[in-house]
Amino acid sequence: MINNEQNSFDHDVVVVGGGPAGSTAATLLAQYGHKVLLLESGRHPRFHIGESMLPFSEPIIQRLGVDWSAGNLSKNGAVFMDEATEQRMYFPLSVHRKTYQIERAPFDQMLFENAAKHGVETHQQEKVLDVSCQADDVSIVSDKSRYRCRYLIDATGRSALMGRKDKGIKRIENLGKFAVYTHFENIQPGEEADELFRSGNIYVPVVDIGWIWIIPLAERRLSVGLVVQKARPKDCDAEELLRRYLAASPLLSRLTTGAEQFAPVRVEADFSYTNQSRYGVRYACCGDAAGFLDPVFSSGVFLALTSAARVADRVHFGLTEGWEADPELHAEDDCHYLLGFNTMRLFVERFYHSNIVHNLFFEADRAPELKAQIAQLLAGDLWVDDNKLQQSLLAGRRSVS
Ligand SMILES: Cc1cc2nc3c(=O)[nH]c(=O)nc-3n(C[C@H](O)[C@H](O)[C@H](O)COP(=O)(O)OP(=O)(O)OC[C@H]3O[C@@H](n4cnc5c(N)ncnc54)[C@H](O)[C@@H]3O)c2cc1C
Repeated sequence: MINNEQNSFDHDVVVVGGGPAGSTAATLLAQYGHKVLLLESGRHPRFHIGESMLPFSEPIIQRLGVDWSAGNLSKNGAVFMDEATEQRMYFPLSVHRKTYQIERAPFDQMLFENAAKHGVETHQQEKVLDVSCQADDVSIVSDKSRYRCRYLIDATGRSALMGRKDKGIKRIENLGKFAVYTHFENIQPGEEADELFRSGNIYVPVVDIGWIWIIPLAERRLSVGLVVQKARPKDCDAEELLRRYLAASPLLSRLTTGAEQFAPVRVEADFSYTNQSRYGVRYACCGDAAGFLDPVFSSGVFLALTSAARVADRVHFGLTEGWEADPELHAEDDCHYLLGFNTMRLFVERFYHSNIVHNLFFEADRAPELKAQIAQLLAGDLWVDDNKLQQSLLAGRRSVS
């Protein structure tokens, strides 16, 4: 039952940012019966990188009532490889839950439109410029209007509205520095290419300056990116660097022979940060606005969906029980979030700094239990108490906050 005592508010909740996190939080709160406004500065469909999903997002997708298989390629698992040493290891991920390689523009649009279907008031091309979260209310100023509501959810992605306002963004050093990527279409038939599209596996070749993603998409398209951890060679720009590494990879050379590059080469930098201001009086952050990790283990959308659902459930509790102004409303859920985020963070740090791919992944066939534990982490099955690998990662460093 919703507490309507304060019906002078324009909305119960304003969600800023209409990516996966924002659309999820808004939809779930509308399902509970709250009056929700979702503000997005762009217009869907808009391009977004981040196509490789994790199976443990599935329960949230089910709660949203959308079909994420539509138009997307079913993903079986992940293959880590080193072409120089000819080592590779496959981890099956979609064992009990299914997942997909998705094109983000239609996926993000579907989630945004789904919010509207559930009764959320949605505005596009409206950018929030400032917010003020007080004990009594939240005021929001956008480039089109002003709003007063009971609660704010910051789902602004790497713009991190609240984190930057409160100077809570702390870089995590020494992970990937930048990514350079593009897309190919018309991947030609052939044993390797056919197997790639049949399995939907993500391939992750490790290279001397970082790693490459090879993500098959529907209609025989391929997303290819290079994440660079070392300093860029002085004699070339990011685009030339991508071309060099594509040409140096025998697998990618074979896969892209006869294919056409159909998207511009794009670069994204400023990777990996925590937000020390994830929640406070009448606000909470979710998705990339709460923290962002180098994408080597494809954890971004999974963390966005799971953190958004958790925030939405707690905001519903706060609004119905009259706890919404409590600055500690999200304290317990934040521990839950940090368990997932820190597990992935420590795993990514091991990827860069202790050569986990060569030392552990490639050896995993010799230890089936270890292989299952790695696969469990790669699938996003993080809130468990029996994964010894996770426990040893967390024992190495208990918390980042
Ligand atoms: C190179 C790279 C590769 C990646 N690969 C993967 C991958 O393979 N798998 C994966 O799961 N993740 C991947 N990710 C991460 C993934 O893309 C993000 O984690 C995911 O998009 C987070 O969702 P979100 O809703 O939090 O943020 P976003 O999807 O970024 O959405 C935020 C939205 O907020 C809007 N917004 C921002 N500021 C304002 C404002 N002031 N007012 C109104 N609206 C605003 C933006 O327009 C945007 O639509 C990758 C990321 C990068 C950079």
